[in-house]
Amino acid sequence: MLNILKEKCPNCKSSSVFLTKGNPILFQMPKMKKQCDQCGYSFEREPGYFFGAMYISYALAVSEMFSVFILSIFVFGMSYLYTLSIICIMAILASTFNFRKSRVIWMYLLRKPSS
Ligand SMILES: [Zn+2]
Repeated sequence: MLNILKEKCPNCKSSSVFLTKGNPILFQMPKMKKQCDQCGYSFEREPGYFFGAMYISYALAVSEMFSVFILSIFVFGMSYLYTLSIICIMAILASTFNFRKSRVIWMYLLRKPSS
């Protein structure tokens, strides 16, 4: 769990998966390494490997939006227009975060057993 948050290699758990974290304000997507620096574990095992990570990204985004919606409507008592604006801003700011976390979660779910 902690290694997923730190975005560490699913095999050796020491090297980072991403070269850059990306910046949603500057429209920079995170850059991923081809393989692990420490153990040589290949992160993208086949073309389209991260297709399934989109479902995880979707689940993350929906749960974040739902949490913000509940907080702003029921806790802070904001109007629907403010709530919608906050959700849009939050979705843009969290996009690279969701991109990185969904890929790391996907790799941890489908990792090869280390022999
Ligand atoms: Zn590794």
